[in-house]
Amino acid sequence: MAALLLTGGRVVDPANRLDAQTDLLISEGKIAAVGADAAKLAPRDAERMAVNGLVVCPGLIDLHVHLREPGQTSKETLATGTAAAARGGFTSVVCMPNTSPAIDNAGTVALIRERAAQQGIVNVFVTGAISNNLAGEELAPIGGLKRAGVVAITDDGHCVQNNDLMRRACEYAKMFDLPVMDHCQDYALVTDGVMHEGYWSTVLGLRGWPSAGEEVIVARNILLAELTGTKVHCQHLSAAGSVALLREAKKRGVPISGEACPHHFTLTDAAVAGSEKFWGNDGKQIFRTPNFPEWPKYDTNFKMNPPLRSARDREAILEGLADGTIEILCSDHAPHCDYEKEVEFDYAPFGITGLETELALSLMQLVHAKRISLPDLIAKFTVNPARLLNLKKGTLNAGADADVTIFDPDAEWIFEKAATASKSANSPFYGWKLKGRAVTTIVGGKIV
Ligand SMILES: [Zn+2]
Repeated sequence: MAALLLTGGRVVDPANRLDAQTDLLISEGKIAAVGADAAKLAPRDAERMAVNGLVVCPGLIDLHVHLREPGQTSKETLATGTAAAARGGFTSVVCMPNTSPAIDNAGTVALIRERAAQQGIVNVFVTGAISNNLAGEELAPIGGLKRAGVVAITDDGHCVQNNDLMRRACEYAKMFDLPVMDHCQDYALVTDGVMHEGYWSTVLGLRGWPSAGEEVIVARNILLAELTGTKVHCQHLSAAGSVALLREAKKRGVPISGEACPHHFTLTDAAVAGSEKFWGNDGKQIFRTPNFPEWPKYDTNFKMNPPLRSARDREAILEGLADGTIEILCSDHAPHCDYEKEVEFDYAPFGITGLETELALSLMQLVHAKRISLPDLIAKFTVNPARLLNLKKGTLNAGADADVTIFDPDAEWIFEKAATASKSANSPFYGWKLKGRAVTTIVGGKIV
């Protein structure tokens, strides 16, 4: 396809403060023009697509995804993971290094980039480990990782406990102009906790993972970002205290940032006690329309790390997203096989899939609930993650790669297990009536 003209959509490009009903022209894989000129500049043989009533925005970026290659292809592959991304409206994903072997060397980075170029249908950016084998004992070769093309370092799934090692990681990362992303978990406080420590963990007899286990590391990261001047990014924030710490630090100008995932600002720990307890308590506050799928207690699709927390924590995450304290949205898409999840709650792995539901859940909880504007939501999925990771993505500037997402913010649909593009099916949101859905995902000018 040489050229594609999208006509009559609501074009939203937060980086350029654009929000208008207008046209967009794509040519030779690049954005050629936006606005009244687009139709005039379109070649006569350009394909035309009327997108009235739909939102046209820069291709969405999810900076926290587990694609499971290399080594865990029974859970997900670059082909299936990027297919799930495209289905969800995402044109770029950033994959985490807790694979088997871990992404802690240039060779593994090269392998993933090569396989992604062959098999991926969306852009795949790679993160490298902070420490060798994510063991938290010695630094990974950060310079070599940077030369191999990583966009950040993180030990996601693990957390460097040694504060001096983390300080050195920040110092090296700064030399190579890489942000440090961190999965915030203090092992001594969390021990073998499997759900949020609170009322429901007591009722259910499950070991607790206290909020302080996250907040302690968020505080550590703020201090190290301030000490070293390195950009430090706190992944998948779940606790009210973390938001308060981040808000205060950002006021002082500390180079710290945070992200939130839809499950943490939609669900609460009551969901682990089953659908009846959730909808009878914390669920009542979120959806006015009847929306009551059922699930049993101890359902392992409600087990993630960090865990679902209290209604107060959920509210704090929403407030943090609304006031800009948390500037990035992501899924922490973490596929696992059925047989791994179909065990007792204590023994199941942490994590859920999320690429196909995150846009809808974010629209519902933030835009439809009137907490933030549509352009603000789009910024958290586009220009904000692009800026953090120095990606040349996330805008509709003329000349930029033609990564474009077209979505219907009001489309109502039900997420069905049989329809998922992911290789795994560990989502808590099957059967949920969702509002907002990607219609077309365009990567480098191609509809995928
Ligand atoms: Zn994590």
